[in-house]
Amino acid sequence: MKPGPELKTHPLYLNGQWVRTATSQPVVNPATGEPFAAVCTAAAAAVTRAIEDAQGAFERWRRLPAKARGAYLHAIADQLEARRQEIARTITLENGKPLAQSLGEIAMSVDHLRWFAEEARRVYGRIVPNQVEGKRHWVVKTPIGVVAAISPWNFPLVLAVRKLAPALAAGCAAILKPASATPLCALALAECAEAAQLPAGVLQVVLGPAAQIAGEFLRHPGCRKISFTGSTEVGRELIRGAAETIKPLSLELGGHAPVLVFEDADLEAAVDGAMVAKFRNTGQSCIAANRIFVQRSIYDRFLERLVRQTQGLKVGDGLEDGVQIGPLINRAGLEKAKEHIQDAVRRGARLLCGGRALDRSGWFIEPAVLADVPPPALCMQEETFAPIAAVASFATETEAIALANDTPYGLSAYAFTRDLNRVLRLSESIEAGTLGINDGVPSTSNCPFGGMKQSGWGRELGSEGIEEFVEVKHVSIGLSS
Ligand code: NAP
Repeated sequence: MKPGPELKTHPLYLNGQWVRTATSQPVVNPATGEPFAAVCTAAAAAVTRAIEDAQGAFERWRRLPAKARGAYLHAIADQLEARRQEIARTITLENGKPLAQSLGEIAMSVDHLRWFAEEARRVYGRIVPNQVEGKRHWVVKTPIGVVAAISPWNFPLVLAVRKLAPALAAGCAAILKPASATPLCALALAECAEAAQLPAGVLQVVLGPAAQIAGEFLRHPGCRKISFTGSTEVGRELIRGAAETIKPLSLELGGHAPVLVFEDADLEAAVDGAMVAKFRNTGQSCIAANRIFVQRSIYDRFLERLVRQTQGLKVGDGLEDGVQIGPLINRAGLEKAKEHIQDAVRRGARLLCGGRALDRSGWFIEPAVLADVPPPALCMQEETFAPIAAVASFATETEAIALANDTPYGLSAYAFTRDLNRVLRLSESIEAGTLGINDGVPSTSNCPFGGMKQSGWGRELGSEGIEEFVEVKHVSIGLSS
């Protein structure tokens, strides 16, 4: 599409230059359904060039002391902090989330950058005792090389930073391909990198047809790793594509998080926790509470409180004061939300509140609570990615654990209980990469994040996050007599 003359078209960031191309695509504000900016796009040839430029930059970047690379990451974090009001506004304009949550996303991005700035200095190898006389063994870690980072639209800044910060800290050069819906904050991040005087080619941003760009990342031998966050379907396609070149992949894929609320829980805290786990980011989070299971003896009291709090949520344009629920990302997201509600009701669930699409421009839906949702309902089978709380009851802990694990996904899970023995049992039996106990917001820079089963391969954040971007090499040294 050709954007109208009134739309500002943003260039790509390639090898330290802002580059205009002949093609572009619009960026739409989900609160209005209207384009408000455009970005240049590029196809495979520009990606080839970006990989080759990154190879040159990598050779210089990897030789810097880790402390110096960390200093660049701190400087990028300083830039992000200084521009947080403006960049938060950009996130809200392109993604729709409430401004306070965009500011929170920037704070978390800054924290990730600072965490990995320090982790750069802790990529330790080891010296291993020799088995036979006359030999010595070292295990050394070296940066993997040029990394391609493909990120989604739902946390458009922080999920890109979760890849770029550890990749750069490890000594890799990176090329970011952000989601088409939310390219502007990625370009803003590149501006921060430029202002921090990051050497040319260490971080580049490409935009355009995703499958073509990813095809070049997969094909080109100079691209040594792809780190992807997005849907399980696209993750599967990347695995297929990687078979040819055995390209290493890190995959952060879809989730289907259960929330287990036990009768010994602090009920108020459990409802508060479920509210944030469900409605943060308008329900469009990979760790969003998708299935809420409540023990029978407290089921009605839990529902009553959940409905009251859900009805109190303010829906609107994320730039308006006090808004807690923004629009969904696009029309398809809204249609899927409506379908999940209709399907659940058809199968016998009770719609206790909300669920009506707002009669205004943009893709808004009232936050909803569904009770007695049966297991075959779509919202109990797949990610809803909308502000719809699907609730059902259980009788025993054994049943609750079986319900929680009855999914091909295993990204995150939540449980509310005050029984320490139960906490230990849950921590051993729940199949999820992150388990929040009495905690609706469990992600943090210094702990690993990632999925089991079809939720992905590898981990981001924590001390594990940087390991995804290094090769482990054994050096065996024969000593002269
Ligand atoms: P998506 O459609 O898979 O897109 C994610 C990224 O992949 C975008 O940059 C997209 O580019 C690109 N892409 C699309 N088709 C591709 C292809 N054939 N080859 C390579 N790349 C391709 O996912 P989404 O709708 O943006 O994000 C929502 C999904 O991400 C949900 O399933 C959610 O659970 C998951 N997610 C997981 C995590 C996690 O940490 N595990 C975090 C957040 C989200 P275009 O935008 O240009 O199409």
